[in-house]
Amino acid sequence: MENLILIKYGELTTKKANRNTFTKLLANNIKEVLKGEEFNIKFDRVRMYIECENVNSVSSKLKNVFGIHGIVICHKVNTNIEDIKLKVLELLKNEKFNTFKICTKRADKSFEILSMEVNNIIGGYILKNLDTKVDVHNPDILVTIEIRREGTYIYTNVIKGLGGYPVGIQGKGMLMLSGGIDSPVAGYLSLKRGVDLECLYFESPPHTSIEAKNKVIALAKIINKYSGGIKVNIVPFTKLQEAIYKNVPDSYIITIMRRMMYRIAERLAKKNKCKAIINGESIGQVASQTLTSMISINSVTNYPVIRPVACMDKLEIIDIAKKIGTYDTSILPYEDCCTIFLPTHPVINPDINKCIKYESSFDYETLIDEILDNIEVITDLSEEHSDLL
Ligand code: ATP
Ligand code: MG
Repeated sequence: MENLILIKYGELTTKKANRNTFTKLLANNIKEVLKGEEFNIKFDRVRMYIECENVNSVSSKLKNVFGIHGIVICHKVNTNIEDIKLKVLELLKNEKFNTFKICTKRADKSFEILSMEVNNIIGGYILKNLDTKVDVHNPDILVTIEIRREGTYIYTNVIKGLGGYPVGIQGKGMLMLSGGIDSPVAGYLSLKRGVDLECLYFESPPHTSIEAKNKVIALAKIINKYSGGIKVNIVPFTKLQEAIYKNVPDSYIITIMRRMMYRIAERLAKKNKCKAIINGESIGQVASQTLTSMISINSVTNYPVIRPVACMDKLEIIDIAKKIGTYDTSILPYEDCCTIFLPTHPVINPDINKCIKYESSFDYETLIDEILDNIEVITDLSEEHSDLL
């Protein structure tokens, strides 16, 4: 395979003690994303190379992998100075720049021309053929020439990767995934810090539609492009939600409903070895997301609850949603269980004691047990089923 892509790790390399674990996991995640491609992957403690057939398709898939900070497409030529000259000229002819610098690395010490000399020969050749100048301190374009035994690799541009940590390095979190704009963004940001995901969706048929459920699955599929292997747990919430409506005063319905959601999320997270609950709550966005509401709601669990978008404005969240490709699906108009029968005056400063009192009027524990026994798990988030919407 003639094409070679060099992967730059960035932040990974600062964690010296964990470097091996990081690079191994990154290599595995890359293999997962590149399934179906012809490729070979090689890595050591400082760098990773991918030899492949279809360099465009492979590099575009690599742009979705967390833990990659830079993607460099290398051009391979035979190790002789004439071939190197021609290739560098061909590459630079297609670029717009005023100044350049050649940087040669001679990994193959048997090559007879020293690095500095290669710089001079190639630099001189470019100056003769193109209207440009050398700037060794701050060049517009840096040409790297790596002379290796198997051939010489030449590269110029570094394509920006997603950054972050390899997904899974922090274990898994349970993402409360609704059909809205915020929770898919929360999921994406958690993946970026290396937290793998499992999703949890509360559905209340017949009050919520099959389209609402399919919309959540469609969102999970989009997030799955950044990870692979995500599951969606569909939680049958109808009976518990109806019991809440029957037994709880209007203004506390949302607070109690969210306390129940947290209880179920914690139980499912523990069962499925997730180390945190993740959701799309944003401070002050709605009555149930004031800090006082969060105290009442959060008090049912002492599991960590990660809220990646807590301090973002809606417009900032929307920007990310557009960038990651979830926005257009999120704004499809299907009802979520949180938006059906919305009370006119939800309490903004709920009192925990009142929550406990209202909850004692019905046997929610039995309902939760029943719910946990009847979860539908969706594991196939591959593209063949993307005709759901
Ligand atoms: P989003 O845009 O993500 O739906 P939102 O602004 O609609 O957020 P809420 O509906 O109040 O906010 O919900 C807050 C968070 O609670 C959501 O971001 C999501 O993490 C979780 N959540 C809400 N409804 C559900 C649901 N039906 N299933 C799973 N999680 C939910
Ligand atoms: Mg919502």
